[in-house]
Amino acid sequence: MSTDSKVPSVILNNGVEMPQLGFGVWQVPDDEAAKAVATALEAGYRSIDTAAIYENERGTGEAVAASGIPREELFVTTKLWNSEQGYDSTLRAFDASLERLGLDHVDLYLIHWPVPAKDAYVDTYRALEKIHAEGRARAIGVSNFLPEHLERLTAETGVVPAVNQIELHPQLAQAESRALHARLGIATEAWSPLGQGRGLLDVPALVAVARKHGRTPAQAVLRWHLQLGNVVIPKSVTPSRIQENIDVFDFELDPEDMAAIAALDEGGRLGPNPAEFNVGA
Ligand code: NAD
Repeated sequence: MSTDSKVPSVILNNGVEMPQLGFGVWQVPDDEAAKAVATALEAGYRSIDTAAIYENERGTGEAVAASGIPREELFVTTKLWNSEQGYDSTLRAFDASLERLGLDHVDLYLIHWPVPAKDAYVDTYRALEKIHAEGRARAIGVSNFLPEHLERLTAETGVVPAVNQIELHPQLAQAESRALHARLGIATEAWSPLGQGRGLLDVPALVAVARKHGRTPAQAVLRWHLQLGNVVIPKSVTPSRIQENIDVFDFELDPEDMAAIAALDEGGRLGPNPAEFNVGA
């Protein structure tokens, strides 16, 4: 097992470095999160993506504490849940997340969803700015924001989020969002980068690209993301897959492979449409 995987960083628009590949822990129960995160840290991951709603910030924090890895080498992301949007409630929710994580700061704090029906993401973002100014989040950003939400947020606050974490995989390539992010200087972070391991990994064109390089379809998909410049946070609780998903820095897809994977885009979401997702409003 390699423990020295060289994960490159992207430089966020405030100068903070973020590993381009991290470990996602959605749907990992709190009492299993410590073990999964420990396995990932052992495999060389240094970035962990959790959220208040995942209810595993405590297990994630335990693994971070037990790892003995210097805090400055780690990149911890968590997210504000929808029901807590609003200025004061965000400040309280952030305190609670830090407490559960057992940390004095996070590296990235995200608004989990725009929740249009609540119409509170601008005030919420102002609370994130305060948290950032206090040094309790090294960078702040959003998740699941559509172009219309980003345009409004930047117009009303004058601030450009560092990151937008969106559903993105070969079957939902998000060209419009990626182009807007590039124009505004927002890092694109892909959630469900493997398409949740469902049909995507069996698609013959992808399997063919993987075979050509002697790699697995998951590794080929992760390479596609990395070569596009996306930040990726694949999830697995299986040690061999956790390792496999970080062993992607010693091969390269050629333009033909990139095109073959890009051709799989069908604009289909696995998750909700952010324009209509108002749970917790
Ligand atoms: P993913 O695309 O990372 O797929 C994970 C699934 O793929 C695993 O459960 C497993 O079944 C399979 N898998 C993983 N590695 C594999 C491999 N090497 N070979 C074959 N199958 C493999 O999906 P995800 O967990 O939905 O997304 C990753 C992370 O993104 C989450 O854990 C979470 O941190 C984040 N996320 C964020 C949001 C958001 O709203 N911001 C939503 C969903 C997920």
